[in-house]
Amino acid sequence: MTTGTHSMSTHERLSSRSSFLDTTEVLDTTPTDARITEWQNQWNSLGSQTTQWMERGITPDECLATGQDQPWAVCKTLNRLRVGEGRCKVSMKKWKITTSDACVYGESQTMEHIMRCSQAPQCTKLACANHWKDVI
Ligand SMILES: [Zn+2]
Repeated sequence: MTTGTHSMSTHERLSSRSSFLDTTEVLDTTPTDARITEWQNQWNSLGSQTTQWMERGITPDECLATGQDQPWAVCKTLNRLRVGEGRCKVSMKKWKITTSDACVYGESQTMEHIMRCSQAPQCTKLACANHWKDVI
């Protein structure tokens, strides 16, 4: 005989999702030390990619990146400019979203080009990010 109600446990609630409780671990150190150790381990595991980031001025740091207080669109664009990955026309062409990779004056619009394109202000990265926030 059924009662008409069914109480599901955390494990059977959503078959497509795992409970976060399945992936947590008890810390044997402070949260700050655990976070820094995890950060360093992930950074070290990335190998040569970290060299490219450091050449762009991105270094391992416990602080949040500058611009995190900006609106989401600007913050996202700053991060895309920092890592050199975004929806520039070269990528859009590679992804078959557009047929041309040319910027307005005909130059190939790579993420590197975005940083020095004459369409956008060059005074600060924030000004540049504000210009490109809805584009890349
Ligand atoms: Zn341009």
